[in-house]
Amino acid sequence: MADSQSAHLSASKDAVTLAANHITPMSRELRHLKTLDEARKILWEALPARVREGRFGVRPVEIAEALGLVLDEEIPSPTDLPPFDRSLMDGYALRAQDTFGASEGLPAYLKLVGEVQMGDTPAFALSHNQAARIATGGMLPEGADAVVMVEYTQPWGDDSIEVLRPVAPGDHVVRRADDVREGQAILPAGHRLRPQDISALAGLGVTTVPVRLPRVAVLSTGPEIVPHTDPVSPGKIRDMNGPALRAAIRSLGAEPLNLGLVTDEEEPLRDALRRGLAEADIVLASGGTSVGAADLMPDIISSLGTPGVLVHGVAVKPGKPVVIGLVDETPIFGLPGHPTSCLLIFRELVAPLLRAAGGARAARPRPVRALLSRNYPSQAGREEFVPVRLEEREGEWHATPLLGPSALISTLVKADGLVCIPAEAEGLYAGDSVDVEPLE
Ligand code: AMP
Ligand code: MG
Repeated sequence: MADSQSAHLSASKDAVTLAANHITPMSRELRHLKTLDEARKILWEALPARVREGRFGVRPVEIAEALGLVLDEEIPSPTDLPPFDRSLMDGYALRAQDTFGASEGLPAYLKLVGEVQMGDTPAFALSHNQAARIATGGMLPEGADAVVMVEYTQPWGDDSIEVLRPVAPGDHVVRRADDVREGQAILPAGHRLRPQDISALAGLGVTTVPVRLPRVAVLSTGPEIVPHTDPVSPGKIRDMNGPALRAAIRSLGAEPLNLGLVTDEEEPLRDALRRGLAEADIVLASGGTSVGAADLMPDIISSLGTPGVLVHGVAVKPGKPVVIGLVDETPIFGLPGHPTSCLLIFRELVAPLLRAAGGARAARPRPVRALLSRNYPSQAGREEFVPVRLEEREGEWHATPLLGPSALISTLVKADGLVCIPAEAEGLYAGDSVDVEPLE
């Protein structure tokens, strides 16, 4: 009794001292951590169906900028391609029937009545036993139904040719709409655009297409953070998360929206997040997600709309202080401030949403099976992602865990991949066969 009373007394004395110094004790703690899988499931179930199914962030994009992006709708052709009958060869346009039975011994004699100018409609028509010079891509004159290659002809006199072999109707000609017919679906919904698709769209005069290009707002927070382009004064550090997240967003075929930096103060934080919610499909803020006095993110997210915070804290290393929220149908993430944790949580929780939108230029890279080259102890009760280096020796991959504090970005820089140690395991042993997720 006496003990607990004195403990109580000394605790209140501490509180008084702290208050006098304007220091708030780190009283709270992240409890009831979810596993990554639980967190994913909670988020997934709360998401509106269109986001879960990847049908979000749809906007018109100029085709030359749309490589790798996914069409949200089927594209019907507005026109025929080619728009007129064209020659596929350099030669002479003619009427095939005038050459039937022709041979080297008994050529067909055709009179030249003109030359097709590239890019123009011929001003003449062909009638019986007439021909006209034409180049590849030229428009067939009226009356012509085939082209003979120059190689199978000989000049005859000033204004005629000999045709040395018979030509069939349609030879060396692409007819109007042979490639694509007006109204025909050129590309289906959900298709990822490749250079040849862009060629077809350009040929048909389709200049912009509706693609899934989610916009992801990125905010960095904390009074110690300065723009990475600035000099640092003592106590400050350059913003690493902003540039890294924007790059990661781009690599997944989405579009970053830079919300810049704000300090840990309620109003500026709320204003920046509001702007993100108004202008983007997903909002990311790094820093301020833990339980210290300056960690305002969880309360602010909940104050912005419903349902607010879905998950606070995930049992994963690195990355524990995470806030996952949904504000009026827009996913919002408070990512840990530590640059390695920030990127890892982005990879595990945010990237899958962008991949669902199909904006991913590449699917999640396939894991590489490797043999672990040294023991690696891990604390049970939380999943751990271990950066490893990969080496191939005698046809087998070997993964070497990189030791060192997970807070150091240089560890991730040296890594080729990550090995996930499940929550229930107390580590891995040299010789274990592990799946390494390549870091790209
Ligand atoms: P916080 O989550 O705000 O407590 O931040 C955790 C650690 O990450 C602190 O050491 C921060 O200085 C650091 N940090 C937070 N945001 C960034 C950032 N954008 N770039 C680099 N380091 C950061
Ligand atoms: Mg902070």
